[in-house]
Amino acid sequence: MKLFKKILIANRGEIAVRVIRACRELGIKTVAVHSDIEKDALHVKLADESVCIGPANPAQSYLNIPAILTAAEITDSEAIHPGYGFLSENAQFAESCATSGITFIGPTTENIRTGGDKSKARQVMKRRGVPVVPGSEGPVDTEETLLKIAKKIGFPVLLKASSGGGGRGMRVVYDEQALQQAYNMAQREALAAFGNSEVYLEKYLSPIRHIEVQIIADAKGNVVHLGERDCSVQRRHQKLIEESPAPGITEKFRKKIGDLAVKAAKALKYRNVGTIEFIVDQDQNIYFMEVNTRVQVEHPVTEEITGIDIIKEQIKIAAGQLLLIKQSDIKFSGHAIECRINAEDPDKFIPWPGQIKFLNLPGGPGIRVDTAAFAGWTVPAHYDSMIAKVIARGKTREEAIMRMKRALGDFLIEGIKTTVPFHKKVLNHPDFIKGGFNTDFLEKMTAQESGAGTAVENGSDAEA
Ligand code: ADP
Ligand code: ADP
Ligand code: MG
Repeated sequence: MKLFKKILIANRGEIAVRVIRACRELGIKTVAVHSDIEKDALHVKLADESVCIGPANPAQSYLNIPAILTAAEITDSEAIHPGYGFLSENAQFAESCATSGITFIGPTTENIRTGGDKSKARQVMKRRGVPVVPGSEGPVDTEETLLKIAKKIGFPVLLKASSGGGGRGMRVVYDEQALQQAYNMAQREALAAFGNSEVYLEKYLSPIRHIEVQIIADAKGNVVHLGERDCSVQRRHQKLIEESPAPGITEKFRKKIGDLAVKAAKALKYRNVGTIEFIVDQDQNIYFMEVNTRVQVEHPVTEEITGIDIIKEQIKIAAGQLLLIKQSDIKFSGHAIECRINAEDPDKFIPWPGQIKFLNLPGGPGIRVDTAAFAGWTVPAHYDSMIAKVIARGKTREEAIMRMKRALGDFLIEGIKTTVPFHKKVLNHPDFIKGGFNTDFLEKMTAQESGAGTAVENGSDAEA
């Protein structure tokens, strides 16, 4: 099978660099695109060619479909890799690529549409026998239905935007009195943030773990999974630390969640790489949460324990290659943990852009750093604050933790604030070291730090 000669990468930062690396190893030429403030960015320096696609504002550059397609045409790019975020889950973009005769490196337009409509994806799963969190059948369109379902499933409930993502568009409701107002606000916020006011209802389950499964599927409907990732260290429903395998689970459970993910992928007629996200409750019940129709930020932990390059697989499948690996070929070895390093104040989690004056990135045995940062580079205020991912691999979880602690100690950066000190705190926390914690881990850690002893459950996490 012939792969592409040249790929345009419609993204920036570490993921653009990651895709360039995969292309280089496959002998494929690369084109970087950039906004006018990023002409000196690392992804631009590393690519074979580059095109400026507009001003700093992402709407005019990294989200500018006509500018990106024009860049692909003038550079004779055969395919576009969208990375994550930006246009990666934009069905219209995938369609425009096809119309222009350019291969979109990702799932089918239909997959993207279903995945982007979280309430519809739930319905597909339910129909095909994949368990979903108790909740509404589809979008909730009247207050009567809302109250009826809420009473049936019981409080607390979670109002979720059908088009939500990135941890946004969710609102916890603790009692009947608060329901109607929350519903109105959730709809307004969903419309403002995602251009679609549709919301659906789920039971708010607590305590839970977030466990997701990486899948790869080809055009013939062959599907394999690459095991699970535990992403329960979250702040405001956003992942901060991920690991694979999930600590403390049995082989039987691993097989069960893997099989469910494959079943979900088949129900969606999924093609290319993707992630099926699940909620796991205290009794080890597994509920489908959503499907992410793109490469995940945390894909490296899976690569580290399977030896499979997920970006290369994405490219090969987009080029029409069938899966060469069978489920039984996939072997898991050791343990990997990823810390997302953000340019943020580590206590308040507010973005802290600025120029990096000095940078020493960690390395040595078992350490991988995916980043586009370098000394002298100015972290722009216009984009996501994540500047690096540190991935530690060990024969055991203990070794991976010790390596991560060593790597975080070697991560020396001057000029901006980062979340490195936060990660050091987590890696030393007894509950993290024990493993198998829930998504309320961080809330509990913060409560302990402020001397409260235990976490208090209240309505304060209701946010859009
Ligand atoms: P997003 O599209 O923003 O990633 P998800 O539906 O994947 O949204 O949910 C993000 C996070 O919110 C989950 O990882 C989990 O921590 C929390 N969450 C989502 N649904 C529920 C639920 N029904 N009960 C409890 N927590 C939930
Ligand atoms: P992952 O599961 O890959 O970690 P995240 O939910 O953290 O995914 O999102 C990855 C990237 O995509 C982030 O930059 C996030 O801001 C962005 N993102 C995800 N969904 C949306 C959405 N619906 N709208 C805008 N940005 C999104
Ligand atoms: Mg999610």
